[in-house]
Amino acid sequence: MIRMSEVGKTYPGGVAALTAVSMHVDAGELVGIVGPSGSGKSTMLHLLGALDRPSTGTVRIDGHDVATLPDRSLSALRARTIGFVFQQFHLAPGVPALDNVADGLLYTGVRRRERRHRAAHALQRVGLGHRAHHRPHEMSGGERQRVAIARAVVGDPAVLLADEPTGNLDSVASASVMALLRSLHATGTTVVVITHDREIAGDLPRCLQMRDGRLAES
Ligand code: ADP
Repeated sequence: MIRMSEVGKTYPGGVAALTAVSMHVDAGELVGIVGPSGSGKSTMLHLLGALDRPSTGTVRIDGHDVATLPDRSLSALRARTIGFVFQQFHLAPGVPALDNVADGLLYTGVRRRERRHRAAHALQRVGLGHRAHHRPHEMSGGERQRVAIARAVVGDPAVLLADEPTGNLDSVASASVMALLRSLHATGTTVVVITHDREIAGDLPRCLQMRDGRLAES
């Protein structure tokens, strides 16, 4: 599904965030990425999600070499294939859950009515069918993250990339978000999750360890 070969990423200013990273994520996997702060996890996730291009080496997503795709094709690949979830939820304030989720389909050419129809279904999938008309400030942190997950999967992406999705949540809400990611995985979505939480990492079938921009054996 995703394959990195000898990938390096250097940011402007010369920070080498990744060095010679080779890894792959197969379709249908649930994979964790762990490591100390600054070790390159988010950089790796950005590259896995085609939000950025490598400085050296190759990243292939669904067979496409990210370095050679024009910007438009890269955006289309991302929209079609990948859903993103972040620690900070990134929901539009004051906007009902249904519309927040429907916005996940904004650039897909799907009409508004159909977008909202699919959003309602995605909210049901994450157990929040009854919260469709609530705004983010009327929901708990765990509920907000589930709305963000509904938005990420409303277009049925093959891959869900989650960057510290439980970082802002208490242990009960974290458990429910992880259970949700597992249930999405069980229904066929490939899931990659960055986590600081050792307990969460320990429960994942496979974990990649990052250290100083390199992949360490785990
Ligand atoms: P992690 O997610 O493990 O905390 P990151 O991938 O965010 O690690 O960061 C890896 C290294 O790259 C760090 O040294 C960080 O300061 C640097 N870095 C990350 N993003 C940028 C950026 N946009 N510009 C410059 N340096 C960056």
